[in-house]
Amino acid sequence: MVTFRNITKTFPGGTRAIDNVSLSVPPGQFCVILGSSGAGKSTLLRAVNGLTELQAGVDVGEVRVGDTTVSPRTLRDVRRRVGMVHQQFNLVARLTVMDNVLAGALPEVSLPRTLLRLFPRDLRRKACVLLAEVGLGEEHLYRKASKLSGGQQQRVAIARALMLDPPVLLADEPVASLDPQTSSSILELLRHSTRSRGTTVLCSLHQVDLAIKFADRIVAMKNGKVVFDGPPEVLAALG
Ligand code: ADP
Ligand code: ADP
Repeated sequence: MVTFRNITKTFPGGTRAIDNVSLSVPPGQFCVILGSSGAGKSTLLRAVNGLTELQAGVDVGEVRVGDTTVSPRTLRDVRRRVGMVHQQFNLVARLTVMDNVLAGALPEVSLPRTLLRLFPRDLRRKACVLLAEVGLGEEHLYRKASKLSGGQQQRVAIARALMLDPPVLLADEPVASLDPQTSSSILELLRHSTRSRGTTVLCSLHQVDLAIKFADRIVAMKNGKVVFDGPPEVLAALG
């Protein structure tokens, strides 16, 4: 469960990226945050894992992950419970597929490959199982991340994000760099692998058709405000 209570975020310079947003996303929901560039989607998602800082005296509101209020004091704990997938995949190019996924077990550390090789067998096995689940078999485990296609890199990033079994997953425009066919396969994979685990998903998108096809619920944003919140069928009927 993720709860936003009256969130307002103003960046230095005066841009109000989020304007009084309240939202509660229940366990297991695949919630798409829909909006064009600049709507505030990324700023909202990043408030969940503290990458958007709510500054005392400037910003308003509270974000909760389960029973925990996101704050500098709880950040380490929150980040272990919130996985993230990015538009540009954010893999370590020089590391193998396997090592990139293993790195998901230690989100706060940047590890050289020599250390990654020392991961216990159960974690290595888990990484293999996750990679198989996202469609990357053994022949891919020791390829360098930089050699993969965009779709394959995003599959690795999803496996990495699931290494700690996070109850919450943030996906910030996860298919914006991919072609339409690959986009659909990645969203299908995200929906399938999170539904089977009961993960709460916040996924930002700018494509209405993809939101309608894959979301349990659509929250549409414009200029930092929520302008629609409801099931995809209702948004589709609005035209
Ligand atoms: P979206 O993800 O929907 O494209 P963003 O959340 O990235 O939107 O941005 C919302 C607004 O906040 C935009 O006007 C953007 O320019 C502004 N913004 C985002 N990040 C920063 C920042 N670090 N500093 C100043 N303004 C920012
Ligand atoms: P996916 O198979 O994850 O949907 P894509 O549709 O992006 O990935 O790519 C299809 C196939 O094209 C991949 O299996 C991959 O082998 C190949 N491919 C595409 N781009 C590259 C690249 N830059 N480097 C290596 N292989 C690539």
